[in-house]
Amino acid sequence: MTKGQFPTDKFQQLQTPFYYYDAELLRKTLQTINEEAGKHEGFVVHYAVKANANPQLLRIIRQAGFGADCVSGGEIEASLKAGFPASKIVYAGVGKSDWEINLGLDNDIFCFNVESIPELEVINELADRKNKIARVAFRLNPNVGAHTHANITTGLAENKFGIAMRDMMSVIEEAASMKNIKVVGLHFHIGSQILDMGDFEALCNRINELQNELERHRIIVEHINVGGGLGVDYQHPNRIPVPDFKAYFDTYAKKLKLYPGQTLHFELGRAVVAQCGSLITRTLYIKKGALKQFCIVDAGFTDLIRPALYQAYHKIENITSEEPAQTYDVVGPICESTDVFAKQIDLNCCHRGDLLAIRSAGAYGEIMASQYNCRRLPQGYISDDI
Ligand SMILES: *Cc1c(COP(=O)(O)O)cnc(C)c1O
Repeated sequence: MTKGQFPTDKFQQLQTPFYYYDAELLRKTLQTINEEAGKHEGFVVHYAVKANANPQLLRIIRQAGFGADCVSGGEIEASLKAGFPASKIVYAGVGKSDWEINLGLDNDIFCFNVESIPELEVINELADRKNKIARVAFRLNPNVGAHTHANITTGLAENKFGIAMRDMMSVIEEAASMKNIKVVGLHFHIGSQILDMGDFEALCNRINELQNELERHRIIVEHINVGGGLGVDYQHPNRIPVPDFKAYFDTYAKKLKLYPGQTLHFELGRAVVAQCGSLITRTLYIKKGALKQFCIVDAGFTDLIRPALYQAYHKIENITSEEPAQTYDVVGPICESTDVFAKQIDLNCCHRGDLLAIRSAGAYGEIMASQYNCRRLPQGYISDDI
């Protein structure tokens, strides 16, 4: 969507700040994923619900045939409610509580991605009480770095996620002795906002080595799950609205050695939903300080925390002004100095009442909203409905 394509007339009736989702772009993105993944035998795509659990988005994603990747019981519930079949739900997380495991067992989800032996023991015990066999994949920590923000790498030995590689064989052997556990896969996830295909290649190489070792022990699992992590272009949401899924899936097709019948699962979050969402906020005041001018808006980090949390960049546009640009710091109303969306950026001259679009906010935006300062949670609207 380019500037000017926002339905600004309709926006005038809505209480700001709010999230606006371009359903057409989401459908196009999903279609591209299905086309590119569909070129490769055995590729299965799940949507990482934690990126955005807006019920309308979930429904569109489910209609496109995706599975769901959940990291909590609440996400399993949201996925089931949106119509995802339990047979396409995977459940990962370092700290699964008993009720969450029971929920997964009761619904016969496709797979638990297990991150430790103590967790495996609890799943075995809870499955035993229900007379069920839990399907599990082991989340291994491949010790592969990713060229992304340090707070969002997950596949290094120092991160809390996954089981160390050297423990792989003993974990698999231990699982084989548990009567209510069936090992069906291996799971990995090295981080987020990854744009260097070399990082995914490094993961493929590591998995190939592991699979060779397993083969020596005559073990071939049903599926490999490589997680998500594909990044988006936050600088150019208009020019590159759909990430390069072709390069992404082709990298795995070329570099990862699958055994006959093995399926390859993906869990994409950000790349699916980031570009279709914008946070729409209204300009409250223009304040001219001694050194700079501030555009004070009614959205804050309670609505979109990424800039405050990771110094993340989001492109911002004034969607109701065509006046010559001026330079602003765009800041929110929250009583914290980190409540800043951008510093020293050019915007078409802003006046009280102007609407700004904070772009590429569909992932890790609405879902991370909080009520700090007793603020209201932002609403989400989808273009189909307004
Ligand atoms: C967060 C997460 C994902 C999705 O990551 P994106 O970078 O949004 O694609 C996938 N799998 C697991 C296990 C995750 O924790």
